[in-house]
Amino acid sequence: MKHKGFSTRAVHAGEPRIQGALTMPIFQSSTFETRDGESYDDIRYIRLNNTPSHDALHAKLAALENGEAALVTSSGMAAITTTLLAIMEPGAHVLAQTGLYGGTSAWLTNECPKLGFDVTHISCLDSSKWEKALTPQSRVFYCETISNPLLEVADLEEVVSFCKRHGLLPVIDNTFASPVLCNPLDLGFELVLHSATKYLNGHTDIVAGCVIGSQARIDQIRHKLNLFGGTLDPHACFLLQRGIKTLELRVKAQSENASVLANWLAEMPQVRRVYHPSLTTHASHQNAKKFLRGYGAMLAFELADIRAAKLFCDRLELGVYAPSLGGVETLVTLPVCTSHASVDPVQRLEMGIGDGLVRVSVGIEDISDLKDDFLRALSEVAS
Ligand code: PLP
Repeated sequence: MKHKGFSTRAVHAGEPRIQGALTMPIFQSSTFETRDGESYDDIRYIRLNNTPSHDALHAKLAALENGEAALVTSSGMAAITTTLLAIMEPGAHVLAQTGLYGGTSAWLTNECPKLGFDVTHISCLDSSKWEKALTPQSRVFYCETISNPLLEVADLEEVVSFCKRHGLLPVIDNTFASPVLCNPLDLGFELVLHSATKYLNGHTDIVAGCVIGSQARIDQIRHKLNLFGGTLDPHACFLLQRGIKTLELRVKAQSENASVLANWLAEMPQVRRVYHPSLTTHASHQNAKKFLRGYGAMLAFELADIRAAKLFCDRLELGVYAPSLGGVETLVTLPVCTSHASVDPVQRLEMGIGDGLVRVSVGIEDISDLKDDFLRALSEVAS
């Protein structure tokens, strides 16, 4: 039975009801008995990503991203690196969005050339430069649905049509949007990746990743993952399976809080600028409206300088100064001290990332408490 509703799928897809259990049990067994007549290819072993814990999650994730097949991995980075290494031969060239998640960007820039891959960074917002960046070896276009920390959304249809015209595989990291806000496979992307550590799990208690796409592509990636060994532990599978059930409720509540907070922050005298796709002043408001089913729960805002930004973070009582995102609790970070610390300050400013920028992963707390907390912290910051 195929259900259309997102939460119905989140709750019921990939639930084999083993011995009638409504909650998928944890199969804490590294090895499974090989039965009569089974071949080497039927061996079940945790590293081969084919225990009942993995199978159930794969079915759930595929259902949420409207994909044929899915594969969970030990982290978001394991999903990204294994996927790209599986779909490219040495010598291949990647067109990668500028301003990707720092780990992805560092891997593409520092590690890929050593492995025989070339990478060119392009702005996803300026398609006029994409063609010039192509080489005869270009194979992959890699981007993120919503960028970090300025929350930009590219014209995703244009990305896909460019890839079709030039024979590239469009691959997208959908972590910030989550499948609640966007299903890139429906737009023509070939593969969708997630750091499942974030919204998919939502409770800040595991690290996990996943990739979703056609059966043939996922088989190709699974083969590499089995050899690289980036498998997800069954207990983490259990927590992710449980976390996903409330994904839509969480993302909707968090996104609503973020929209209210963004509008409210825009009125504060200490705040110079607010970045959230719900704001009509945001550069990607129209693209977000067109390609997303909501504006997301990440926002950023600018205070006068790094001193003001640090003071604000220090004075929060509810919001926690911590990296990562997507959990039920509100977290704040300073991109110049974390994700973009290694970027040259002049280049950082050119990218629009000022020293006083505060990034917020908005949680599910009551909005009145969040406003009180932000107001108290802001009141200590000079306007
Ligand atoms: N992709 C994005 C957009 C991220 O923000 C992160 C981590 O912050 C990752 C991938 C990497 O995920 P993980 O930490 O699960 O390896």
